[in-house]
Order: sequence, then C-alpha cells, then structure tokens
Amino acid sequence: MPLVWREFQPIAAIATTPNAAQRLQLLSQTTGATLWVPESLSAIEQAQVYTGSLKAHVAQLWHHHRAFVFCLATGAVVRLIAPLLEHKSLDPAVVVVDEKGQFVISLCSGHQGKADQLAKAIALQLGATPVLTGASSALGLPGVDTLGVPFGWQRGEGDWTAVSATVARGEAVQVIQEVGSTLWQEHLPQGHPFHFGFPEYTATNREEAISPKARIWISATQRQFSPESDLPKVQWHPRVLWVGIGCERGTSKQLIETAIQQTCRSHHLAEGAIAGLATIDIKADEVGLVELCRDRNLPLRTFPAEVLRSVNVPNPSAVVEKEVGTPSVAEAAAQLAANSFGAQDVAPLQVKKQIFKAEGQPGAVTVAIAQSEQEYTGRTGQLFLIGTGPGQLEQMTPAAQTAVSQADVVIGYSLYIDLIAPLLRPGQIVEALPITQERQRAERAIEIAQWGLVVAVVSSGDCGIYGMAGLVLEELRAGGWDGKTPGVQVFPGITALQAAASRVGAPLMHDFCAISLSDLLTPWEVIEKRLTAAAQADFITALYNPRSQTRTQQIATARDIFLKYRDPMTPVAIVRAAYRQDEQITLTTLEKLLETPVDMLTTVLIGNQSTRTYEDWMITPRGYLGFDADATRLNPPS
Ligand code: SAH
Repeated sequence: MPLVWREFQPIAAIATTPNAAQRLQLLSQTTGATLWVPESLSAIEQAQVYTGSLKAHVAQLWHHHRAFVFCLATGAVVRLIAPLLEHKSLDPAVVVVDEKGQFVISLCSGHQGKADQLAKAIALQLGATPVLTGASSALGLPGVDTLGVPFGWQRGEGDWTAVSATVARGEAVQVIQEVGSTLWQEHLPQGHPFHFGFPEYTATNREEAISPKARIWISATQRQFSPESDLPKVQWHPRVLWVGIGCERGTSKQLIETAIQQTCRSHHLAEGAIAGLATIDIKADEVGLVELCRDRNLPLRTFPAEVLRSVNVPNPSAVVEKEVGTPSVAEAAAQLAANSFGAQDVAPLQVKKQIFKAEGQPGAVTVAIAQSEQEYTGRTGQLFLIGTGPGQLEQMTPAAQTAVSQADVVIGYSLYIDLIAPLLRPGQIVEALPITQERQRAERAIEIAQWGLVVAVVSSGDCGIYGMAGLVLEELRAGGWDGKTPGVQVFPGITALQAAASRVGAPLMHDFCAISLSDLLTPWEVIEKRLTAAAQADFITALYNPRSQTRTQQIATARDIFLKYRDPMTPVAIVRAAYRQDEQITLTTLEKLLETPVDMLTTVLIGNQSTRTYEDWMITPRGYLGFDADATRLNPPS
C-alpha cells in the first residue's frame, strides 16, 4: 500500500447500493481500505459482506478502525455514528462521499482524527471537491489541537475547545514556547492570531501590548490551570525529556513507573514530555523496564559502561562503579540519550538522581532526567520524491497530488512550489529554496525525514529525470541508509520530453533518447560523444537544458553534430514552457534550428530520418502503414 495512506489505517469503507459500492471499490484498493457491503451486493468483487443491521456492524468496527469512509447520505451516517461518538481525541475520522463522487465531506474528527486530511486526499483521487467546514481550515491556520502532531508532541491538559474557538474568532492568542521545534511558527499565514513570548513585558508602549484571549503553552512543564481563570489555556508537550534509569535486577515495572511518576510530579514535569528511557546496555533485557517501554510505547536507549563513564555527572557513585564499571548509570544515560538528538554540548540534567524503594516490592530504582534540545518525534520519517509534471496541476498524477497534500513538509524550488500552491494545506511547512541549491534541498529533506517527519521533495516533470530523486537517494546512500528508514516513495511525473511531444503530435513514436546539454555536472566531451552516438543511431533526440545565460554554444555544437548524420530538413520541435501560461511552440528544421531562441525552459526535439511534419504536427512513423524506404536509409545525406 502506498505510504501516503498508511497513517489512516485501518480504514473501513461502507456502501449499501451498487453505485456506491462501485464508487468505493477502486478507492478501497488505492487506500488499502476494507470495503463492506450488505448481502444483497455480495457479487461485488473484493468486498466483505456484513450480515444483520449496518448499525450493529459499524458499532462492531468502530473501535478497531482509524477511519471510516461512507458512500451514503450524510443524514444516515450521522444517525449511524451518533451513539458511538465519544470525544474528538478518541473518535476515528469519518468521511462521506456522495454517490456521484462529486464531494468528499469531512464529517467528524477533522483535526485530531485527520478526517480533513483524509477527505482532501480522497477528493484528489476522485477528482472531487473536499468539503471541510472547520474554521481553522478556512483561515489557513493549523488546528490548535494538531499543530504539534508532525513533531510528535503530546497534548496536555487544557480547554482545547475554548482555545480553538478563540483562534476561529481571530482573537489574539499568546503562545509561550519553551521547548520544541519552532518550524510551525515560521510558516503561518499573514495576519495569524498568534503572539509569541511575553509581549506584555516587551512592548515598547502600552498600545502594542496585546491582551490575549487565550494562551498556548508549549513546554515540558506540567502546568496547573486554575478553573477560575477566564483565560482559556492549553498545553502541548514536546518530547524532550530522557529518563535515565538505574535499577537492581528484578525491579518491578510498577516500581519503575511509580519512580518516574513521582519524579515528574515533584519537579513539575509533564509525563507527556518524556521522550524515552535510557540505561546501561546490560539492562537492555530488564523485564520491568522492557515492559514499561512496551506499554507506554517509549524507546529504550542503552549505552555500554565505557561510554557512560565518559560523562561528567553530578553524583558519581563508587559502589556503582565497582559493580558495573561506570560511576553513573541514570544520570549519564539520561544525558547521553538527550544528547543524541541535535545538540552538540552535553544535555543539561533537569533532575539529578533520585533513589526509590518501595516496601514489599523487589529492587530499587534510580531516576535522573535530562532535556534534549530537539524533541523526539516517535515517528518514522518518509521521503516522497515527487514529479509535478510540466506545469499545469492537471498534468500531475492524483497520487503525486495526494502525496504533496499529505506531507508535513514540502521542499522544492520556489517556481514549482508556486505551481502546486493549490494543493498545500494549512499548517504545512513549506520550504522554497533557490534553484541552484539542489544539494541543500536534498540534505534538508533527509535531515527532517530522519527526524521523523513526512517530507515531500518536488521536482518539475519527472523527479527521476534530471530531478531531485536521484540526488536524494545518492545522499541517503552516502549517509549509510538502510534502505528502509526513512521510507522512500517515488511518484513519477510527466517529463518535459513527453509534455513537449504531446504539444506537437507524436514525434517519439520510434526509439528515442534524452540528452542534457548542461555540462555543469557532466564533462562536455561525454555529452558530445552521446550526441554523436544518438545522431548516428538515428534516435529521435530530446535535448534538455539546451541553453542557459552563460552556456550558449552547446546548442549550436549539437546541431552541427546532428547535421553530419541527418538531413538539414529533419523536423525539429522547439517547445518552451509546455503546459504553462507562456507556452511557445515552434516547428522548424535542423538547418534553421538556431533561428528560434531557446532557453532553460525549452526542450528541443530532433526527429529521426523518417520524422515528418504535416500541417502543424510532427509525426514519426512507426511503420504501421507499410515499409518506408526513406526510413531505413542509414547513410548520412551527402
Ligand atoms: N525533471 C524535469 C527536467 C529538469 S531539467 C523533467 O522531467 O521534465 C530542466 C529542463 O527540462 C529544462 O531546461 C527544459 O529543457 C526541460 N523542461 C522542464 N520543464 C519544461 C517545460 N514545461 N517545457 C519545456 N521544457 C521543459
């Protein structure tokens, strides 16, 4: 199943009429959903049949699915799900598609359940209009309750509904961010309602001071909100706390858990901000630790004694050193684990070591907590390498469009980002970099994906044809990539030679090749050799990057080489900015090729010996209409 649909799994698709079933059938295959139909439709291929009432069936599926796609009247869906709804933080995404496939409605759990995102993705697949009625979506803002999701932040306490409503009304919201990525702040639309820091104190005059109507805390601290306060507040917890654990053999899970809870409580730290646990490698199989990590879905990082002993800790112990070969386990492991994400210096200890024992329970635990600079996302990153086609959005595949709209981060050359702007979603982090910085773009994308985010790297045309896909994969390989993490998926696009060909007819009907005239990365001798070989072998040839401001001679040399082997009257198509607003198409001949200006937005198609023009068209015969003596003439024209 394509990676884009993975985060919605498992998905149940439900149809009760033949039309609806047909509508969802292909969609189910694409999205990996299970399609459910009543017995009357049991002939529908690849569908599962439910017996009895749909209401009972949906109730049965409810807790085991992350998303539901109904092709059913919204009224009926509302009645079906009403008794099942609990809370927006728990309910699955519910999306409704109409029978004609014109609209995809995000009905329920738009934010936290990702129904908005799913509706948008399905709409792109069906060519339908997504119907999103959430206010933040209309304002172009990330949801208050989803803005930390890409970074793996945990939602803490607070009045989420009231703070979201404040944003929806466009009233000032104060954001106090103590830890975690600030990337989300950098990509907010103009006129957003967020105010960062403590503007009451920093404003130069009183008018500038805002009086916030709500507050968002982003920190590792567990704040107690007074129920009397009329300023609604929420707290997000980036996972920056690494809990170092030292324990005796056989210490129970309960004791370790209690020790962590008590330590957090007494230091006002949020358990939601815990990134993971850390200890010495000989404890990697300590049952209590392993069970706790499994139950809480936390990573366990372990370090050998010789590494632990290199850390300067506040409370070394000679007893511990004698026993395991390092004077500190908890403090040193916490600091090392916190260090492995980003920071250069040793991570600061938030909590020095505390020792816990409990009467009647076996073992003893030591706990220390260090804070990392970069949060642990707990997510497996993905790299979507996407070809956007020649220019018009219509020419981009639905799969590629879906991938762009699903990504947390979109990286590309600014011109191509503009072309795909309608696909972008509020809250997405969009990094447009100048055209020359391909390596920086690739490295940036890899860095973010390794951190756990879903990154779309966009190239025009096909991303694997003089595009970013090869560069990203090469960089991954150079960095010792295991081929799996981050995950990679390549989305093909219509490349310039196809786009150009389609505008002039069918010039590529016989064997053809592409040659880039750019000698920035390829020695010119190699390019010349390939031009000669292509000309000799009678390949129809597409020239990419034919000319830049500084590289002006190459196209003339290419023409001279072709003239040695091909008739001066050989048809040539010069297509500039295919499928873009300033598209220009010229049909000419090899002889007159240089009379038409070409630039970096142009593709030149040189026909083979049998290519002909007819009216405004360029056609290379394949041979269906019989043997063409002309076409087999292999000798160069005299
Ligand atoms: N990955 C792209 C190619 C990038 S190299 C693809 O698959 O199409 C850049 C070259 O592609 C340009 O110099 C030009 O030769 C060609 N090109 C890209 N977009 C084009 C368009 N819309 N019309 C004509 N040529 C185009």
